[in-house]
Amino acid sequence: MSSVQPAETSPRKYQLMIDGKWVDAESGKTFTTPNPATGEILAEVAEGDQADIDKAVAAARKAFEGKWSKVSARDRGRMLYKLSQLIEERTPELAALETSDNGKPIKESTYVDLPQVAENFEYFAGWATKIEGETIPVPGQMFNYTLREPVGVCGQIIPWNFPLLMAAWKLAPALAAGNTIVLKPAEQTPVNAMELGKLIQEAGFPDGVVNIVPGYGETAGAALAAHPGIDKVAFTGSTEVGKLVAKAAAENLTKVSLELGGKAPNIVFADADIEQAVSGAMMGIFFNQGQVCCAGSRLFVEEGVKDQFLERLQAKSANIVVGDPMDQGTHMGPQVSAEQLSRIQGYCDVAQEEGATVLAGGKSPELAAAFQKGYFFQPTIFSDVKNQMRIAQEEVFGPVVSVISFKDEDDLIKQANDTIYGLSAGIWTSNITRAHRFAKAIHAGVIWINTYNMFNAASPFGGYKQSGYGREMGKHALDMYTHVKSVWVDLSGKPIGWFGK
Ligand code: NAP
Ligand code: MG
Repeated sequence: MSSVQPAETSPRKYQLMIDGKWVDAESGKTFTTPNPATGEILAEVAEGDQADIDKAVAAARKAFEGKWSKVSARDRGRMLYKLSQLIEERTPELAALETSDNGKPIKESTYVDLPQVAENFEYFAGWATKIEGETIPVPGQMFNYTLREPVGVCGQIIPWNFPLLMAAWKLAPALAAGNTIVLKPAEQTPVNAMELGKLIQEAGFPDGVVNIVPGYGETAGAALAAHPGIDKVAFTGSTEVGKLVAKAAAENLTKVSLELGGKAPNIVFADADIEQAVSGAMMGIFFNQGQVCCAGSRLFVEEGVKDQFLERLQAKSANIVVGDPMDQGTHMGPQVSAEQLSRIQGYCDVAQEEGATVLAGGKSPELAAAFQKGYFFQPTIFSDVKNQMRIAQEEVFGPVVSVISFKDEDDLIKQANDTIYGLSAGIWTSNITRAHRFAKAIHAGVIWINTYNMFNAASPFGGYKQSGYGREMGKHALDMYTHVKSVWVDLSGKPIGWFGK
């Protein structure tokens, strides 16, 4: 198989992007980000904190009230479209960097992440000129209409699992609606956020419209969420940190949207096409090394087909290629960090203590010398899992699937909904009425029927319950980035008679 060259050999250097300028952190501090496949330092990055967030928020405010407010909707759309084109043109370079910083296979960066990043900017480019108010049929000699206005300065905090794509999901609708932004990428994967900053400048966005401040969550992230100068905070990450963000925002009653964790049921009925369902179970849990908030980590399989299904799942999973993420033939690269690797190993230990059986994996693979410092983990299957076990209730965020058997539909729906999360669910069946019954019965924001992990910029994504609130992508994303203003106009030209003549 052909192999792509890693992005570079010596560490790259990045500053903060504030008000259109590349600057060091006020503190002068920097941090490094490793390549998780090798442990080598990929880049040294300026470490923003409160002082830099203050500067970035002030720049975003100035741009919001100044230059950006005078840019027409058409021109906002054109800049977004130009950005999507620049991303398409730079896909090979950006994909190699995404893989070097995050560890995801180059096949995935090139054919999934990057195309979806471009698609999101392109989709929301089209929306810029279609954000409209309405006229309301109020009674009497009155005219009432609404205006859709941008919310203002938005703080956006993103995770490391899809570094560029999470930036695109947040930036694209916010910019289409005319907001300005302070973006804080995850400490594990800051590199492509900064590369995106360069392309944002090249696409013609005025200085200060997008400001990018990498740094740590407890300092830069917390300062942004609690900042009285922002009008909205949008967060993707763990449910635990999501609660901290919502609490910090509550102090100023800042608008909040949250895209948090999941523990999705992926359900296989006996009448499913078993080969299709096996491939869907693998897509559900092994894609992106299992580091997906909507991963199908609870695999419910109907008793009657369980043995046959598990045999096929085991056989096919044994063929998954784990290794050099720059190799076009690799299916799974390393986990993002040493912390994540040890967290996953910890959950595998817990599962065994709870009585689950390891059918595959459960440990790191043996790899060539160059990758021995990488954070690799094998595709892992646990059977004999009960839905109450920790392995079935807590988000592992790794390539670890818990197989739970079920007997009938009522029992299944109770178990599937018995979780604090509600982000997504999958069902595999040839019974069309059951499929749609199920789609209504499951408390989750996304349902996949005989498929898994399907996304499109036009289709909304977001959670029920502790998986968060608000919807990203699609027209619903614009609701999170606009205010509705109601305007009343008297058409009679007469005094108001209420208090007499
Ligand atoms: P996380 O801590 O929730 O991080 C997400 C983002 O929030 C990062 O930019 C992080 O910054 C920032 N952050 C951390 N503490 C903050 C605070 N007090 N105030 C404001 N922002 C803060 O997630 P993680 O540590 O990367 O991963 C831990 C778990 O989160 C995973 O195992 C998984 O369960 C979940 N997760 C979910 C998603 C998802 O898409 N739903 C994505 C990633 C992770 P730093 O990274 O710089 O600390
Ligand atoms: Mg990294």
